Amino acid sequence: MKKYDFIIAGGGMAGLSLAYYLLQSPLRNKSILILDRVAKNQNDRTWCFWERNTKSSRPCAFDSILFRKWNSVSFNGTTHAGPIDLGKYQYKMLRGIDFYDFVRAELEKWPNVEQKQVTIDRIKDTPQGGFVIADDEPYIADYIFDSTFSLKLNQPENHNLLQHFKGWVITTEKPCFDPDQPKIMDFRVEQHGDCRFVYVLPFDEKTALVEFTLFNDTLLTDAEYDAELRRYIDQFLDTGAYQISETEYGVIPMSDEFTEENPSEHIVRIGTAGGFTKASTGYTFQRTQRYLQSIVQNLVETGKPNRQISWFKRRFKFYDSIFLNVLEKNRHPADDVFTRVYTRNPRRIFAFLDEDTRFIDELRLFTTLPFWPFIYAFFSVLRRKLSS
Ligand SMILES: Cc1cc2nc3c(=O)[nH]c(=O)nc-3n(C[C@H](O)[C@H](O)[C@H](O)COP(=O)(O)OP(=O)(O)OC[C@H]3O[C@@H](n4cnc5c(N)ncnc54)[C@H](O)[C@@H]3O)c2cc1C
Repeated sequence: MKKYDFIIAGGGMAGLSLAYYLLQSPLRNKSILILDRVAKNQNDRTWCFWERNTKSSRPCAFDSILFRKWNSVSFNGTTHAGPIDLGKYQYKMLRGIDFYDFVRAELEKWPNVEQKQVTIDRIKDTPQGGFVIADDEPYIADYIFDSTFSLKLNQPENHNLLQHFKGWVITTEKPCFDPDQPKIMDFRVEQHGDCRFVYVLPFDEKTALVEFTLFNDTLLTDAEYDAELRRYIDQFLDTGAYQISETEYGVIPMSDEFTEENPSEHIVRIGTAGGFTKASTGYTFQRTQRYLQSIVQNLVETGKPNRQISWFKRRFKFYDSIFLNVLEKNRHPADDVFTRVYTRNPRRIFAFLDEDTRFIDELRLFTTLPFWPFIYAFFSVLRRKLSS
């Protein structure tokens, strides 16, 4: 049986990004096998993320295929309606299909990269290497990078919320969108005691992705998402008649359940499966890019992929848990928490969510939050951590 250097189990966002970074690195001639059960030829999702836009910062590897980028975003919350200061950041949008096509075209240039459309049944470590069983065939490699993920959040001692959403790309009769300004959160929807908002990501004056999003633990029926989308469009957008050309649905874990990124010697979990999702926001794309680049760098420098995370850096996980605790226990209305976070911390908030801030900036940000709800959450999380 042929032994590969790397098997990438799951050729979605994380798997294809990893393959791309490997091919840009001194490891470009290693043998790589990518396994996925679907062909990835549909626009199955759209990623949005922010990125610093300064002379010294390098844009993401997929900057040339971005669908849109914006220098300004707006926010509708409890005490604020209008633009918020992005500072040195840009808000960016990448369509799934553009990413899949771009990476696939790159992979096709390399004879050492194989792709197979198969269903993975099992991933297993052995002293000889990592094994994957897919469609009853065994495959072996020095390292398996596993991004196959099934949502199983069942440790009650953790906070396990879900970010779930349905979006429509609509084309309207009347020009009603500002193409220069996406709405990243619009809380003018009934909250029903949890956290609900709408994104509006404009493509032009008459076309936008309008997405109804919830942070809670109960999925809605399809009809319920549709009803909320319809209500929002009728109430807040002067569309005239409109047509729906695409729909998008997703569920992202917002959980502080511990994920073992390196469960055994030859297996590395990446993407959502590796716990790369930011628990308090659900944003995954940009973190995955960063983490994968550091995995590739470690492979180049040490021959091993394991990322080292400093003890001090782990404080961000603690903050995420506190934030989730406030949301899950409903300690303060979520629309007001987000309004304070986004509007009273111009510039600082995006660095904070990227985990790039200094401790002093984090303390400044905490002073803008409702005091008692976060103090209760802090002690509740501390108690849980100490007792587990
Ligand atoms: C609709 C949607 C929109 C999102 N929008 C954003 C956003 O705007 N910003 C952001 O930061 N994050 C966003 N996310 C979250 C996250 O970035 C995406 O889910 C991202 O695709 C995660 O990458 P991944 O590689 O971990 O998983 P995926 O991209 O889902 O890749 C996993 C791959 O594994 C394959 N697979 C799984 N099981 C098997 C199996 N048994 N056999 C073979 N193949 C298998 C799947 O087919 C899939 O291709 C969004 C998620 C969704 C669902």
